[in-house]
Amino acid sequence: MSNAKRRVSAKRKRQFRGNGSTIKHSKNSSATSTNASCSKIKISPAFDEEIAEYQRKPLTGNRIIYMEVLLNLFLQLCCPRCFEEGILLSEDSTYGLCSNFVIRCKHCDFYSGFSNSKKTLNCPEVNTRFVYGMRQIGKGFSAGFKLCGTLNLPRLSKTAYTNHENKLMSVISEVSELSMQKAASELLVLLFYPTKNKIVECGISVDGTWQRRGYSSMNGCVAALSVDTGKVVDIEIMSSYCPTCRKISKMPRSIESETFAADHVCHRNFQGSALKMEAVGATRIFQRSIVKRGLKYAHYYGDGDSKGFISVKDTYGKDSVTKYECIGHVQKRVGARLRKLKSKNKNLSGKGKLTDSFIDRLQNYYGIAVRSNVGNLSGLQQNVIAALFHCSSSVEKPMHGQCPIGKDSWCYYQRAVLWQKAKRKI
Ligand SMILES: [Zn+2]
Ligand SMILES: [Zn+2]
Ligand SMILES: [Zn+2]
Repeated sequence: MSNAKRRVSAKRKRQFRGNGSTIKHSKNSSATSTNASCSKIKISPAFDEEIAEYQRKPLTGNRIIYMEVLLNLFLQLCCPRCFEEGILLSEDSTYGLCSNFVIRCKHCDFYSGFSNSKKTLNCPEVNTRFVYGMRQIGKGFSAGFKLCGTLNLPRLSKTAYTNHENKLMSVISEVSELSMQKAASELLVLLFYPTKNKIVECGISVDGTWQRRGYSSMNGCVAALSVDTGKVVDIEIMSSYCPTCRKISKMPRSIESETFAADHVCHRNFQGSALKMEAVGATRIFQRSIVKRGLKYAHYYGDGDSKGFISVKDTYGKDSVTKYECIGHVQKRVGARLRKLKSKNKNLSGKGKLTDSFIDRLQNYYGIAVRSNVGNLSGLQQNVIAALFHCSSSVEKPMHGQCPIGKDSWCYYQRAVLWQKAKRKI
C-alpha cells in the first residue's frame, strides 16, 4: 500500500493497522521537524554508547507487562507531531494473548497502532507458542485457561485453541516424519556395507507408552529407537477412541446423520485392550521398515515384556529377528521380584533383614555380576551367589570367600586384603 493510499484510508476510517506500519508513516511525516529538534539537543557520549550497545544486543522475546505501567509511561511521552506531553494508550482488540493497541495524542490528531506480538501470516506468534507450550507439558485447553486466569492474562477461546492445535498437528507430523527419515538415512550411512540387496540390518529398542496407567488407556504410542544412534526411527500412534464416531452413533437416523457419517475420516486405528497395543504397534513398525526406511530391524532390544517380540520375530522370515534383553531392565526386575516377595512374606521385612535399601544393594550387585561376566554363564552364577554373601556379611561375620579377588574386584574386603598383603611385603 502506498503512503498516499494509506493516508486516504486513515481519514475515511480509523482502524488498526498492524505492527508498526503507521509508526513508520508517522516517522516519515515528522522526519524533518524531528531532525531539526534533534540537532539542537546535545547528546552526551555516554548516551551514544548506550545506543551502540542497544544496536549490538537488541531485546528479543516476549515479556509480561503490567498495563498500568505502560499507560503511565505513555502519558509521560511527547507526541511526535505536536511535541506536547501526553499520549493515551488504549486496547483496540484482542486475539488470545495478542492485543492490538492504539496510541493517540491528547492534543492533536496523531495516532498509531501496534501489537504486542510478532505476526506470521497475520497470525500472532504468541498464541501459537502458548498452545505448543501447553502440548509440550502435556496439558490441554482447561489447564491453559486456568494458567491465563491466574496470571491475569487474556485467553484464547476453545475454538481458537483447537484450531491452533490442528495447525500445529499437521506441521509437527510433517517435521517428525522428516526427522525420522533423516535418522534412518544416518543409520544407512553408518552401518552401510555392500550387500546384495542393499538393505541394512540394525538393532532397535522398542517401547510403548500410554496416555493413562493401568492398561485402561484408549491412546498409546510405540516408538522404535536405534541402538546405534539413540535416535527415533519410527513411531506408531494408536487410538481406540473416536469422539466423532461416538457422536454419530448417538445421532437419530436421518439423511443428515448419514452424510455426516460418510464424510467422516476416522482416525481410530486400533481395536482391543491397551495391553495388546504394544505388540500391534511393534508389528506395524517392523512390517514397514524395509519399504519406508530401507532398514531391517534384525536385533530387538526389549524391556523385558516379550509381548512385542513374539509378534515380530518372524517378520523377515522364520526367527529372523533376535532378541536382546536390556541389562538395566533385568536388574530392575530382580529388585521388583524381591519387593513382591517381601510384601507377600511379612517375616522377611524388618531391621537386619530384607529392607528396601538391602534390595537396592542386591539389585546393583546383580547388575555388576551380569555386566562383568558377558559370555561366561558359570562365572555369572558364581558372582550372583557371591554378591548375596557379600551383601549379608558384617564386621563380626565376614563372608567374602566367594567374592572375586584382585585389585579390580568390586569387593572392598578383597581389595583391602590385597592391599594389606602388599603392605606386609614392603
Ligand atoms: Zn500531538
Ligand atoms: Zn471416527
Ligand atoms: Zn565381598
